[in-house]
Amino acid sequence: MSIDAGPVGETGELLRVVAIDGPAGSGKSTVARRLAERLGLEYLDTGAMYRSVAFAAMAREVDLADSDAIVEVARTSDIHIDDTSVIVDGVDATTQIRGPEVTRSVSTVAAISGVREVLRVRQQAWVVERGGGVLEGRDIGTVVFPDAELKVYLSASAAVRAERRAGEVSALDYETVAADLAARDAADSSRQHDPLTQAPDAVHIDTTDLTVDEVVDELIARLG
Ligand code: C5P
Repeated sequence: MSIDAGPVGETGELLRVVAIDGPAGSGKSTVARRLAERLGLEYLDTGAMYRSVAFAAMAREVDLADSDAIVEVARTSDIHIDDTSVIVDGVDATTQIRGPEVTRSVSTVAAISGVREVLRVRQQAWVVERGGGVLEGRDIGTVVFPDAELKVYLSASAAVRAERRAGEVSALDYETVAADLAARDAADSSRQHDPLTQAPDAVHIDTTDLTVDEVVDELIARLG
């Protein structure tokens, strides 16, 4: 990977990478998906990868406190993510990775440096295989692709973020979702390895009062 020009592919060509980071409910997935469509690129939800490792650890009945065992799960789990489904070790985990059990344990799994290393390498390889892409997560602009063409940090008020998430997870009430979000934000922002933080050269957009298209138009304009 080149430091100055940006990420490069197998034959040395410059790859178009857009890195979108921010807390849960800030609009990352919707914006990343639509931006990828408009740019003719593929989209990767890296949160789904961390969720898949948490799911695989539970399926294998691995103790979440055993970091070495969780790294082994990350190393050996077979994760396939596409636009409509997530398959983990041959099991359709599309719904379960968004469920309360995985949501409550994913930050513990994501705090383990060995897990992050395994997934970072997979994310970088994903981009090289596809000749670029739009990736969203917590550390894409700071750690995975610090030399991306465009780095974006999305935020939104805590109330709006909780409302958006509660709308997606109909089985849970607003109060539960808001408390889970606050706990996850605190864990993701304060962990030792690759905490959620805005890259100094990232474009910061507060999406609280913006439509998805307004955010995407702004990003397209920034790409020039
Ligand atoms: O984006 P989503 O809310 O699905 O992410 C689930 C969890 O995965 C986050 O709360 C965070 O702990 C972890 N994550 C991460 N780094 C990323 C993406 C997600 O640590 N790049």
